Amino acid sequence: MTEQNIPYKIYLSENEIPKQWYNVRADMKQKPAPLANPATGEPLGFEELRPVFCDELIKQELDNDTAYIDIPQEIQDFYKMYRPAPLVRAYCLEKALDTPAKIYYKFEGNNTSGSHKLNSAIVQAYYAKQQGLKGVTTETGAGQWGTALSMACAYLGLDCRVYMVKVSYEQKPFRREVMRTYGASVVASPSMETEIGRKINAEHPGTTGSLGCAISEAVEVAVSNPGYRYVLGSVLNQVLLHQSVIGLEAKAALDKYGVTPDIIIGCAGGGSNLGGLISPFMGEKLRGEKDYRFIAVEPASCPSLTRGVFAYDFCDTGMICPLAKMYTLGSNFIPSANHAGGLRYHGMSPVVSQLYHDGYMEAVSVEQTAVFEAATKFARVEGILPAPESSHAIKAAIDEAMKCKETGEAKTILFGLTGTGYFDLVAYEKFNNKQMVDYIPTDEELQASFAKLPKF
Ligand SMILES: *Cc1c(COP(=O)(O)O)cnc(C)c1O
Repeated sequence: MTEQNIPYKIYLSENEIPKQWYNVRADMKQKPAPLANPATGEPLGFEELRPVFCDELIKQELDNDTAYIDIPQEIQDFYKMYRPAPLVRAYCLEKALDTPAKIYYKFEGNNTSGSHKLNSAIVQAYYAKQQGLKGVTTETGAGQWGTALSMACAYLGLDCRVYMVKVSYEQKPFRREVMRTYGASVVASPSMETEIGRKINAEHPGTTGSLGCAISEAVEVAVSNPGYRYVLGSVLNQVLLHQSVIGLEAKAALDKYGVTPDIIIGCAGGGSNLGGLISPFMGEKLRGEKDYRFIAVEPASCPSLTRGVFAYDFCDTGMICPLAKMYTLGSNFIPSANHAGGLRYHGMSPVVSQLYHDGYMEAVSVEQTAVFEAATKFARVEGILPAPESSHAIKAAIDEAMKCKETGEAKTILFGLTGTGYFDLVAYEKFNNKQMVDYIPTDEELQASFAKLPKF
């Protein structure tokens, strides 16, 4: 097959949507460390996790050995509403950059939630329903995960309660109203409805909340209401497993044309899209079959991989969630209020953290003005208005393509375009008005946060 034959968009057919997820842990020699009890530091097993998570999802969370896990038919059918997601050859971007590099991106923004998060939301809601539960609770920041979960719960007839970081609840009404339209109840966090919310409000009057607070509230409500469990949109092993559909589809599409990427790039918040995109390729690398360069891209204002420490840390502010061993900036770390690019979580998926720690992947951090410059360049030639989060990957892909221009190498670059930016126009407005500033935390700030890490 010659280069010219590759279309702008490589679509798979409906029956080429994966029927199994791929679990990269099965091929990892160093497995990710297990979740641990926040009081004792001891690993948590199935029984101990049952009050918080759905049974089947705990099994997936703990399964480090099964390489392929069947996707239930009902989830396959749901996936057909918005998958397969297109794999796009970025001919227009290549031309604009005048680079010999060949650039591909996997676009996950073709659904109402506007991101890849629906891939896992439907799975988590499905297993909650299977278990006969009444509903699920969760947190959301800007609202992408909450929106995806609301859609999945509406489809399956489950109650959905979302704790939304207060500043977003008040300043970003659009996703809040999408969630309510899909039947979710959305509560500004910290609220006065929970013990932990009342405590945080008393200690920090007027606080505008954080993801860590909202997680604590959602977990408290799940464990204290019969028939409810807590679900999480990133970080966990199970979420990376579900997101492997991204990588499996991307690989199937590239395989059709005999294309092998040299470099695979994803933005990294909690690590789920990146983990999902790279999974099948990483499996080949781990098994010694092929080699790839993998690059995680994070914001310079929330640099967990590039400047964090690899340690057990709290996943939430209230310290009631299990501990995870991950690259972390400390659970007290809150990125600067000026940061508009998303990817604000203080930690990183244990799977991604372990792979990075073991040298299987690289990480870079990028400043937000450069991210929005890349987003704008991309939008103008490729047509899609990218989410700020996704634009971190665009920025790194453009950087790699420009290196090819210098060296004359025609490398093949694949990156994940996780979603659309229609609800992020306040951030674009700041950029367009040249009011966007870059903020990089100092070493002293990070050290102060590391000092509060749990010690076991
Ligand atoms: C949530 C989100 C991310 C970051 O989450 P990961 O778990 O790191 O993938 C990236 N892009 C978009 C559009 C998102 O909504």
